[in-house]
Amino acid sequence: MKIGAEDFTALVKGEKTIAPFIEMDPLAGTYSVFGVRTASNPDYMVRAVYEMYEANLNRKLAVKAVRKLYRSVGAGAVGLHKFLKKLGMDPKPEEFLLLVFSLQHQQGWGAPFELVEAGEKRIVIRTRHTFESEVLKDWNRAVCGIHQGWIEGILTAVTGKSWYCLETSCHAKGDPYCEFVCDQVMPSWKFKAEAVVRGESAITEFIEHKPLEGKISLIDEPVVMMPRFIFTSMTQSLKRTMGEAPAGGVNYRAYMDMGKENVEHYKKMGIFDPRTLSDMAFAFYSQMGWFHLVSEAWDEATKTKTITLSHTVESESFGVTGKNTCFCTAGLLAGIIEGSFGIRVQAREVACKSKGDEHCVFTITNKP
Ligand SMILES: [Zn+2]
Ligand SMILES: [Zn+2]
Repeated sequence: MKIGAEDFTALVKGEKTIAPFIEMDPLAGTYSVFGVRTASNPDYMVRAVYEMYEANLNRKLAVKAVRKLYRSVGAGAVGLHKFLKKLGMDPKPEEFLLLVFSLQHQQGWGAPFELVEAGEKRIVIRTRHTFESEVLKDWNRAVCGIHQGWIEGILTAVTGKSWYCLETSCHAKGDPYCEFVCDQVMPSWKFKAEAVVRGESAITEFIEHKPLEGKISLIDEPVVMMPRFIFTSMTQSLKRTMGEAPAGGVNYRAYMDMGKENVEHYKKMGIFDPRTLSDMAFAFYSQMGWFHLVSEAWDEATKTKTITLSHTVESESFGVTGKNTCFCTAGLLAGIIEGSFGIRVQAREVACKSKGDEHCVFTITNKP
């Protein structure tokens, strides 16, 4: 069935619905709207996508992962946008957004949207509920990652600029509306890194992996993936050439320098608060698989900071050896704290999983 500009105008005005443009042939197994093949979006599929991410993340981060996934779905709206232009229509970004969601609403994707605010750099839209807010009502939190990503993708595709969309209230947590605030901004390195520290993003959101080109980047910085046994291999080789105690000392020193340099890099990116610097380094190394923080404590009487890690890269790599093995991690922690707070410290590992202890525990004290 042919569709023209007057049909879209009528759809926008609400004088027409998509019903006459739906073609369904159950025997052929085809279902199309405006001649574009589509399919129903069953509840269980939406739930499965969220649960797939939830398996390795918490619910908040799973919503963000879904959002990233749906940006590419939103970007696909560029086809409809071009088609409208060919028909001689030139909708403003917010008008196009409302049109897309009114078409989606009529196909079962939630309630229609209404425009709250529209400017060059900010668009705010809301709806009583979305498809995912109904499916995931039991999560009892803002869940509309599908719509956030979708909106970002659409706005970026039709304006050629980068958009960032936040859901400020959500039907799934009992609010009267799902409201989306979209800002035309390019989130900076600092913005993304701080979101990781606050637990609002996981580093996976910012990993660009191009395996066929041999490249990986994390928030636009090149990184590499390496096997964990590199720690055993490197340490054994140092021990053979210089003996056990010096090998531990060399590892400690090298990783301390690395920790410090890492913090210097954060400073270049505009982060200066010592607490944020050290929290950022801990969050990034932890999410990159180096260790997992159990607790941090401060003892005023002895001026000692105690850091407890449930595992470290060396304790996992060496396994139980009956000895402390985490010289690299001890150095790294010292370097992060020295770099962040501008002081000189000494880190000592006082319990180690490789020695048979429950956790790897490090004490950090000021160096006289
Ligand atoms: Zn919502
Ligand atoms: Zn250890």
